[in-house]
Amino acid sequence: MPHQNSVTSIKTNISTNLPPTAPMNLPRVPVKSESSTEPTENKEKLLKTDQSVTGKSNDRKVKKLDGYVGFANLPNQVYRKAVKKGFEFTLMVVGRSGLGKSTLINTMFLADIYGKDHPGPSLRVGKTVRVETNRCLLKEKGVNLSLTVVDTPGFGDAVDNSDCWQPVLEYIESRYEEFLNAESRVNRKLQHDSRVHCCLYFLESNTHGMTPLDVEFMQRLHDKVNIIPIISKADTMTPDEVTEYKKQILQEIAQHKIKIYDFPDSDKEEDRENLKKLKARVPFAVVGSTEVHEVDGKKIRGRKYPWGLVEVENLDHCDFVALRNMLLRTHLQDLKEVTSNVHYENFRFRKLACFSADGPKGMTKNPLAQMEDEKRDHDAKLKKMETEMEQVFEMKVKEKKQKLKDSEIALQQKNEQMLKRLESEASELDERRRQLEIEIREWESSSGISLDELRRRSLERETTDGKEKKTKKKGLF
Ligand code: GDP
Repeated sequence: MPHQNSVTSIKTNISTNLPPTAPMNLPRVPVKSESSTEPTENKEKLLKTDQSVTGKSNDRKVKKLDGYVGFANLPNQVYRKAVKKGFEFTLMVVGRSGLGKSTLINTMFLADIYGKDHPGPSLRVGKTVRVETNRCLLKEKGVNLSLTVVDTPGFGDAVDNSDCWQPVLEYIESRYEEFLNAESRVNRKLQHDSRVHCCLYFLESNTHGMTPLDVEFMQRLHDKVNIIPIISKADTMTPDEVTEYKKQILQEIAQHKIKIYDFPDSDKEEDRENLKKLKARVPFAVVGSTEVHEVDGKKIRGRKYPWGLVEVENLDHCDFVALRNMLLRTHLQDLKEVTSNVHYENFRFRKLACFSADGPKGMTKNPLAQMEDEKRDHDAKLKKMETEMEQVFEMKVKEKKQKLKDSEIALQQKNEQMLKRLESEASELDERRRQLEIEIREWESSSGISLDELRRRSLERETTDGKEKKTKKKGLF
């Protein structure tokens, strides 16, 4: 299974129950050949005019057509175009390692999204939280889905997890930023939409209630991305425990004013009924497994225990099928629309509002006035910088002066010390000389001869000895 940058087709069988005419929440209109012009169901030829166009009536006026015009084929055109273009979906999975994220993703798409080439997040845990993407192309009945799974190895695994939501938030905002930049270019050709459309947040099945990290993560990100809470490994709890736990989580979500993904209302009674059932299953308690077991000749995906088999795709055992249907079959398009129309629009507004100095109100200013304001701000900033620099300069000069003064004082002290030492040495020498003179005088009086006399006599002897030596030398020759 190739990943990121290498795109490959994988034939999956997830859609065994999928109506061939309505993938990904597209208009449920049967596909017909190009030549087909007659709508099969719509025998009534009606023309609807919107009140927003006419602006006259509160009710939509329905006008009867005299013949077949052809716009009833419009949904088919949209459908064909969409299928040709393919679909993009970015799914983020967040939760502590070992909660079953990679198993659930592999079970959901019936493909080795995580495998030997790209192991699951718990096998890639580092010292910090990282955000990594894994892109692949899935094919089902001629429909291409470019799926990007974003995971966060290391999330919640450290001793101190206080800021581990930060890299996730930064990643989500960086994707919005990238999209905004691409949209703002002269050539607005968007390469691909990498915004995160849905975040599956995994809660532990063995705790009772959400952890402070769960609450903090959801509070920080609920207005940035569609969050769907998931209770992982539901097979480790009894059905009563699951019901109780779900109730508790919903209570805490309401208590902390967290906004999780809200399913859109429907006009149809049948859809409303299904939606009610779906909503009742939130947070989805799921079981993931890539093992297939044979029971009565039928192949069943599940987890085998000595007491029986937990079937992944049985709604009486867990909410896996409800989650998968909701994500891939009924609400994928809505998740993308909410991302684009709500979360991205909020980001875009915040971003553009930042350009004005006085917040969102500034957006209404005329550009020249805004430029004037910005210039004024800039000048004020420059002036402030100038004053700060002057202050720093003055401080440095002061410091230098103080240093010079200090070294002058130190030199003076050194000088005085040296002078004192020399004076003490001189007085010591004087004392020694005095002692020597006393000793000489004592010696002269004891020996009866003065030192000068002694010196004279020794000189005389030396000269006599010298003359004698010279005469002796002459006598030899
Ligand atoms: P990740 O780190 O969140 O990606 O977790 P993994 O998918 O690698 O799963 C960690 C372990 O939990 C593996 O041994 C899985 O077999 C096991 N596991 C995954 N899903 C379930 C589940 O629904 N129930 C049970 N009992 N175990 C599961």
